[in-house]
Amino acid sequence: MAAGAAAGAGATLAAEDYRVDIHISASGHAVGAQRPAGVQGTSIVYRVPTDEPIVALTFDDGPSTKYTQRILDILSDSGTVATFFEIGLHVQRLPWLSRQVAADHQIGNHTWSHPDLSLAGAGTATRELARGAAEIAQVTGQPPTVFRPPYGYFSGATAMVAAGMHYPMILWDNRFDVTEDVSTNVDRLARSIRPGSIVLGHDGGTLDNAVVPAALPLLIDRLRSQGLKFVTVSHLLAHAAGGSAAPAQA
Ligand SMILES: [Zn+2]
Repeated sequence: MAAGAAAGAGATLAAEDYRVDIHISASGHAVGAQRPAGVQGTSIVYRVPTDEPIVALTFDDGPSTKYTQRILDILSDSGTVATFFEIGLHVQRLPWLSRQVAADHQIGNHTWSHPDLSLAGAGTATRELARGAAEIAQVTGQPPTVFRPPYGYFSGATAMVAAGMHYPMILWDNRFDVTEDVSTNVDRLARSIRPGSIVLGHDGGTLDNAVVPAALPLLIDRLRSQGLKFVTVSHLLAHAAGGSAAPAQA
């Protein structure tokens, strides 16, 4: 509903309508003076259409002393590759752990400080992505090439800034659910994951994500028994049917 649409004769704006107006004026525009000249379009990816039996496991909000090492051990023991969307501040705190992740896996940009970018303009989005990328590049020697917006929240400005930095925005079509137990997670995910799927889990964050490392070895076994192979997000994008899902370069 448009803000103020309910404001007939004698009516006043509801508090919620007013907040909608404030959010729109404070959040980012997808066009205008800040649009990088080379940007022609954006890429927002939930899953990748592919003819190959490949899927991407992704882990957000690390590195953390809580779960990252355990998840790395599980991946190593099972010969599985994954993608970690790391927060710049956490990389700065635990650089040795990020280097360990980077040795075998892909690291994606998950911003510097994990803000809700749906309410941020292009300036904030640019600073958050650039600083996150700089920290990952400095610590691991590899600049990130994929980006996941915190919470999966983004605005037009977020999409525009990401495209200007040549990042596809990577979301997900399946996720671990911390409100479910291990077997419920594994059964549900094994039923719904298919070729091209991008699976969200967490190796950091403030929630109790213990179910992720607990379910991970079982899920890996189940998906392998279904003939699926594990690849990084960039590998998945490069094997999209009909060409790469990454945004066109200027
Ligand atoms: Zn996150």
